[in-house]
Amino acid sequence: MRDNEGRVIDYLRISITDRCNLRCIYCMPEEGVKNICHEKILSYDEIARVCSVLARHGLKKIKITGGEPLVRKDAIVLIRKLKKISGITNVTITTNGVLLEQYYDDLIDAGIDAITVSLDTMKRDIYQKITRRDELERVLRGIEKAIREKKVRLKINCVCVTGIETQDILSLLNYAEHADVDIRFIEMMPIGLGKQFPFVSEEAIRKVIEEKYGKLTPYVKTRGNGPCKYYDVPGFIGKVGFISAVSHKFCDTCNRVRLTSDGFLKTCLQYDYGVYLKSLLEQKVSDGILWETMKTAIEQKPKAHHFDEEKIKSEDEIRGMSQIGG
Ligand code: SAM
Ligand code: SF4
Repeated sequence: MRDNEGRVIDYLRISITDRCNLRCIYCMPEEGVKNICHEKILSYDEIARVCSVLARHGLKKIKITGGEPLVRKDAIVLIRKLKKISGITNVTITTNGVLLEQYYDDLIDAGIDAITVSLDTMKRDIYQKITRRDELERVLRGIEKAIREKKVRLKINCVCVTGIETQDILSLLNYAEHADVDIRFIEMMPIGLGKQFPFVSEEAIRKVIEEKYGKLTPYVKTRGNGPCKYYDVPGFIGKVGFISAVSHKFCDTCNRVRLTSDGFLKTCLQYDYGVYLKSLLEQKVSDGILWETMKTAIEQKPKAHHFDEEKIKSEDEIRGMSQIGG
């Protein structure tokens, strides 16, 4: 499938729940979180149906995300279902890692193709400050299990929130130095609570890494499904990557759409463009109608985000990242 800009859309990020066992300061408020009630959430059969219809029109890769995907009951059952859909080559998950040790074997058994863990710091006090929970030990145990078992590719995503030094982001690089783990730095995007935090650029992080480890060399081969630019670091086994939606806009090669847990097919991270599918799915409309509805929305995918513009537009997204899924 293609949008009106000619971009091939073959990647769907599904937020399977808006609930989370952490409260990251740039993603969710500390208190007063209103969860979407269970009846309004897409069932696993409904999610699988959307994916099957899209797969007939070119969907290849699926990311399971949230909220925290592993807090939704039987997330593994959904992964199994999605892996069976003809045309789907890749099902991956992004998790905060708190439940990774517990579910790692099940994820592998279900056929997960890669695991991304979000971890912003290795310092317990800063982790607590950022996530408002004391779960670092459990996350590290999950990561260590995944490194030991080496069953699928492992990536660690880090957002610089409180500062390069405060978070001691260089400590995260130890993983890439000694194991085949990619460490990726994601620029804070001005979405939801993320708007309140100072922006740390790719350049600033690269400078600190190069001062300690030497020159980063661009890795030119394809790696992963998305916009991450990877680099080799002298002596490292894994790569270092940057996802810099703000300083290095990549909208012209955007290959993705998103599905929120309440069934909104969302065509751009920044804007509230897309279509609600839940009622169509409940009415059990034909695959043809479902596809035509999704196709129209996908074709109208916005050309680009405008994170760099101060002015808030009426069509700007009001959902938070925990509802969108990153
Ligand atoms: N709970 C899971 C996790 O943390 O990996 C999955 C959902 S979380 C919303 C997905 C990713 O979005 C995380 O890596 C998180 O750091 C990132 N994220 C959240 N808010 C962000 C923002 N404003 N800018 C950039 N990344 C953000
Ligand atoms: Fe939860 Fe992930 Fe958002 Fe943190 S970033 S609050 S772990 S959804």
